[in-house]
Amino acid sequence: MTLLALKGVESGYGPMQILWGIDLEVHEGETVILLGANSAGKTTLLRTIIGVLPCVAGTITLGGEHIEKLPPDQRIRRGIAFMSELGVFPDLSIEENIRLGGYFLSGAEVRRRSQRLYELFPALSERRRSLAASLSGGQRKMLGIAKVLVSEPKLLLMDEPSSGLAPVFVKQVIEVLKVAITGGMTLLIAEQNVAFLPLADRGYLLDGGRVRLSGARAELEASDAVHEAYFGL
Ligand code: ATP
Repeated sequence: MTLLALKGVESGYGPMQILWGIDLEVHEGETVILLGANSAGKTTLLRTIIGVLPCVAGTITLGGEHIEKLPPDQRIRRGIAFMSELGVFPDLSIEENIRLGGYFLSGAEVRRRSQRLYELFPALSERRRSLAASLSGGQRKMLGIAKVLVSEPKLLLMDEPSSGLAPVFVKQVIEVLKVAITGGMTLLIAEQNVAFLPLADRGYLLDGGRVRLSGARAELEASDAVHEAYFGL
C-alpha cells in the first residue's frame, strides 16, 4: 500500500528553484533509497517532505491525506520523522535527546520505549546523563537514530546517515537499520554511500533536481547512470 506519494513536486530556496516535477512513492514497509551526486537535491527533497521547505507546486500525500500545506509539526504528528545529517542536539544529554524525539508522547510512554532502545544501544544506556557532545561520531549517529526511533514513526526520512562516519561505524548504522527494517519500519534514505544500497527495495536517482531514474534495487545496481553519479565510475 502506498504510504507516501509525491506528484509533480517543486521546491527550493526563495527564488532559487531546486526541485522540478518530482514524482516519488514509498510503500508501507519498504526501504527506498534516494541517490544522487552532491547538490542533486536529496536534502532539499527530504526537507520539502517534512515541511521545512515549501512545496510550491505539486502534491504530497501520506496515507492518502494531502499534507503539502501542513506545517512540519502536523506532519510529525501524522507519523513522519526526519533525521538530519547532524541528528542530535550536542548540548543536551543522551536522555534529553531521546525525550525530545518523543515530544508528542506521554512521559510514561517515552520511558517505556526508551528502555527498549537502550537495550538496542547499550553504549548509550551506560551514559544516559552525559552530553551528546561527549559521544564519538558513531555513537552520536546511534543517538540520532534512537531519537527518531522513539517516536515509532510511520515513515522515517534519513539524510545521509553515513556522513562523517568511519567505515566501521557505517557498518554499525546499517546493522541497526536492518533491525528497524525487520521490525516493519518504512524508510526513505538519502545516501551516497554504496554500502546502503543492499538495504533498499527500490530507489530513485536525482540529478539536477529531477528524477533521472527509478526502479528496483537490481535495476539501479545495473544502471550506467547510477554508476556514473553514484559509484563515481
Ligand atoms: P549534498 O550531498 O551535497 O547535501 P544534496 O543532493 O542533498 O547534496 P541539496 O543539499 O538538496 O543537495 O542541494 C541542492 C541545491 O540546493 C544545491 O545547488 C545547493 O547549493 C542548493 N542549496 C542547498 N541549501 C540551500 C540554501 N539554504 N539556500 C540556497 N540554496 C541552497
